[in-house]
Amino acid sequence: MDQREDIQMQQVQRELTELFQAIHAEIPIYLFAQPGKNDVFSDAARQALRFFRQITDKIVLREHELTHESAKKWKIEHSPTLVFDPERYNIRWLGAPMGEEGRIFLEALILIGSQKSNLNEQSLQVIKKIDQPRHIKVFVSATCPYCPQQALNALKAAVEKPDLISLEIIDIQANPELATQYSAQSVPQTYANDILIAQGAQPEELFMLSLDTMEQQTVFIPESDEQEVETDLVIVGGGPAGLSAGIYASRSGLKTVVVEKGVLGGQVATTPIVENYPGFKQVGGKTLVDIMVTHALEYVQIFPGEEVRGVEPGKPIIVQTSRRRFNTKAVLMATGATYRNLGVPGESRLGGHGVSYCSTCDGPLFKNKKVIIVGGGNSAATEALHMHHIGVHVTLVHRRDNLRAQDFLVKNLIQNNIPILFNTQVKEIKGKQNVEEVLLYNNKTEELSTLPVSGVFIAIGYDPAVGLAKEIGLELTEEGYIRHDQYRTNIPGIYTSGDVAGGYKQIVTAAGHGAEAALTIFEDMINPYWT
Ligand code: NAP
Repeated sequence: MDQREDIQMQQVQRELTELFQAIHAEIPIYLFAQPGKNDVFSDAARQALRFFRQITDKIVLREHELTHESAKKWKIEHSPTLVFDPERYNIRWLGAPMGEEGRIFLEALILIGSQKSNLNEQSLQVIKKIDQPRHIKVFVSATCPYCPQQALNALKAAVEKPDLISLEIIDIQANPELATQYSAQSVPQTYANDILIAQGAQPEELFMLSLDTMEQQTVFIPESDEQEVETDLVIVGGGPAGLSAGIYASRSGLKTVVVEKGVLGGQVATTPIVENYPGFKQVGGKTLVDIMVTHALEYVQIFPGEEVRGVEPGKPIIVQTSRRRFNTKAVLMATGATYRNLGVPGESRLGGHGVSYCSTCDGPLFKNKKVIIVGGGNSAATEALHMHHIGVHVTLVHRRDNLRAQDFLVKNLIQNNIPILFNTQVKEIKGKQNVEEVLLYNNKTEELSTLPVSGVFIAIGYDPAVGLAKEIGLELTEEGYIRHDQYRTNIPGIYTSGDVAGGYKQIVTAAGHGAEAALTIFEDMINPYWT
């Protein structure tokens, strides 16, 4: 170490000493290291501990081999493993804090020593909902600059809820076999109860959301406790129509909110690949939704998971949801459409046991297995291609002798040799616990046959979601869509756009109509057409 480095090191030590002065609790650490097993990492762990013990006398260190009784008691199998304050927490480090990981180690000492998670308010709101155990594994490496942030998120969670949340920070160089087992080829990678919940580093509150929902989350929407909200416009439905209407209305100066009872993005969220939305040659449906939601959040408040229970026309219009009441000047009904059922025996009984309406959600479970997709439209074709590409043996079953899907998709089906059974109807879905076979009827030859399959994916179109519209007293068209004239329904102040209003049912048309509806609403507020 030259003189300059020496001075720098003394400076670092001084700053760290100051940092640790605020820590009053002991930090018990156990190092389990087996001579002959990963000695380089064990030595690095000892070195890191030695360094920090010069700075603080709070670290109480004990070192044992893997044969020690406490290693057996705590089921420690990897050398080296660091165990932090096991009386209070369930936090382990498989490997040694080298390189970038030194930052994680420092944070771990501070959080454990101060016995505080330091979570922000939004994260606390999310984590308090977790009521089942979560065992987190965060895979990290010494050379990964993004790893400390993700490991810190996990540490904070484990410190906040020690009774339910346990953590293993796993160095992939010290534990290549675990990295292979979990396919952790790019770090940081995070699992909860062995389910992948994050790839890459996340903002703190998004991490907590992924941990709560046990799914990869990319957008965080803050919760609101407000019981009564004054707005200019309430948009019912958070699909492309509702989100783009939100952006346009807010930019026009209207105080706008979007209320969505189910999944933001509607049908797009479960579309495997979108290939005809301008600006994106190919984009995953969920990714496109995340981009739209993130954009909309710049302007509007979104209330996800909240159902509109009633709309009372008047001045103001009262929108009662499952959580609160909105007093508003206008309402845009953008409730979209819901998937259609086949209505055959076995369909509802085996729902979730092989019968599915969402290939993006459930497709991966059927890898190397045989499934049918029922339908002949764009959805059936897109989903058949998606399933084929993820390794599912898929057959398309269509009731007529030609497909309704776009030519481009039909050519793609043929190029990929995806079998298509034309003039074929599903008469029954059979199976004890899970789908085992389908009974098919050829309406040309009038023959019945059975086909053994593990899955039945139904993609036969959508019906407009008009339940609420009917309750409010909105008029419907003969086809069952909300009747409107330039987005204005029969009730003043209530508008509609998107799939529930009829039309082409394309993402781009829904977004366009949403924008037009918002502009109409804005103009009507300036010059009310009903007065
Ligand atoms: P769709 O276009 O209405 O097609 C539904 C298909 O299901 C039709 O082939 C229909 O058969 C069949 N079907 C309906 N009821 C049935 C029943 N009871 N039994 C058996 N088959 C039945 O629905 P979609 O494919 O879900 O598409 C909905 C909308 O979204 C469309 O406007 C579509 O263009 C759009 N979309 C677009 C894309 C894209 O642009 N890439 C992707 C997905 C969806 P028949 O042909 O005999 O009527």
